[in-house]
Amino acid sequence: MPAKPKVAFYWCASCGGCEESVVDLAEGILGVVEAVDIVFWPVAMDFKRADVEAMADGSILASLVNGAIRSTEQEEMVRLLRRKSQLVIAYGACAHLGGIPGLANQFDREQILKYVYEESPSVQNAARTYPQPRFAEDGRVATLPGLWKLVRTLDQVIPVDYYLPGCPPTGKLLQDALGALLAGNAPPKGTVLAPDTALCEECPRRDTKPTDLAFSAFKRPHQVMVDPEKCLLTQGLLCLGPATRGGCGALCVKGNMPCSGCFGPTSRIKDQGAKFLSSVCSSVAATEEKAIDDILATIPDPVGTFYRYGLAGSLLRARVGKAAE
Ligand code: SF4
Ligand code: SF4
Repeated sequence: MPAKPKVAFYWCASCGGCEESVVDLAEGILGVVEAVDIVFWPVAMDFKRADVEAMADGSILASLVNGAIRSTEQEEMVRLLRRKSQLVIAYGACAHLGGIPGLANQFDREQILKYVYEESPSVQNAARTYPQPRFAEDGRVATLPGLWKLVRTLDQVIPVDYYLPGCPPTGKLLQDALGALLAGNAPPKGTVLAPDTALCEECPRRDTKPTDLAFSAFKRPHQVMVDPEKCLLTQGLLCLGPATRGGCGALCVKGNMPCSGCFGPTSRIKDQGAKFLSSVCSSVAATEEKAIDDILATIPDPVGTFYRYGLAGSLLRARVGKAAE
């Protein structure tokens, strides 16, 4: 019997939701296991780094990597998987765009460590002990991965062949992608494996979306009784559907929640946050500077709203002055 194609899964700076989405294939995972040989999947199977190092270069058909890159260990692992794999797929919003971990690029590393190990209300650390990359005692040495100054997307560290967007990608996207790769029907390298159309086009509320909007205030979902039929933008909710790639089936909007943009932009948009911000600002129902400022001040957490998943991969990338190490 011919050997099955080898596939690897790996996680970097992520929450575990992408790993969960693979498990969520439920009985569909049996089809994946039948079609491929999973040679590395630390969250579910007991393979070690040494097992990957022992493989021939290029012997893995595809490595699906989720999570952003923040630590030295993550960087070493994705470089190793790149060498061993014919294809690398950025799996999910964090690998694709930086994701929620990328919001840390608003702060410098020392500020983050100080908060986590000293200032957070739940921390008791009178001795101000911080994790050290290297610790030696009685002739024994323990090491930890180092933390880079910036969170990076996967393609800011290694060449990436395909992107599966979403937080997390849907099971259908994963199955379609693996099916296409195994059948030799892979699209051109660099493709985001989801429709290149805006989410609004697949939204059940799209017929109620007005061509002209006039915001007098922006609302959060808990502040309004959301009409389940009408476009969320008409209700003052910041729905990122117009600036976001479709392919999820408008999951959040069907749940009466605005799209927060996890599929990233379509190929025609260079910077998802800037695109949406510019359209929102041009639709403010005021002409005087003070009145405009008052309306814009109702947007809670602008970076978290417009760049929730895409700060690390955006044109802004990080707060000015925080250069990469
Ligand atoms: S803005 Fe949101 S609610 Fe309105 S049509 Fe687009 S995806 Fe649907
Ligand atoms: S509606 Fe938006 S945030 Fe929700 S899953 Fe789809 S792309 Fe992601």
